[in-house]
Amino acid sequence: MKNSEALKKWQKNYYLKNKDRIKAYAIKWKKENKRRYVQIKVKSMAKTKKARRDKNLAWFLSYLGVDKILCSRCGEEKTYPFLHFHHSDPSQKINLFDSFNRWVRYMKLEEFKEKILGTKGCFLCNRCHTKTHFEIRTSRKSITPSNKRRKHD
Ligand SMILES: [Zn+2]
Repeated sequence: MKNSEALKKWQKNYYLKNKDRIKAYAIKWKKENKRRYVQIKVKSMAKTKKARRDKNLAWFLSYLGVDKILCSRCGEEKTYPFLHFHHSDPSQKINLFDSFNRWVRYMKLEEFKEKILGTKGCFLCNRCHTKTHFEIRTSRKSITPSNKRRKHD
């Protein structure tokens, strides 16, 4: 532990002393190794997303006081990414990408907390989520027979 601390300190000092040289080298390397740079960037982004997802999910489970989330329709135990969040108030769903799977991967913990606590809905497994939306769609059709969509059926 102490050794790694000393190493970090040394690395930091080295960086501060040679800042300009290191930066110039990094820019040059990036230009000459564009493909490799993109590969590394993609990899590190995947790592960030995974870390964010783990942190957000861990917080959420401890907030609920459970160790797993069940589908509120069929009761099956589902884990990410088969766990969907069903917006019970459709006006709260901003767009197609406004989904639980994206919240956990892309949002920082504070942002995630605000989102999940401020959105009305329940957890459904992927199958039940599809079924639920199918039922909503078909029941709407029968209530409003003049629905334009009927033409395409
Ligand atoms: Zn289900």
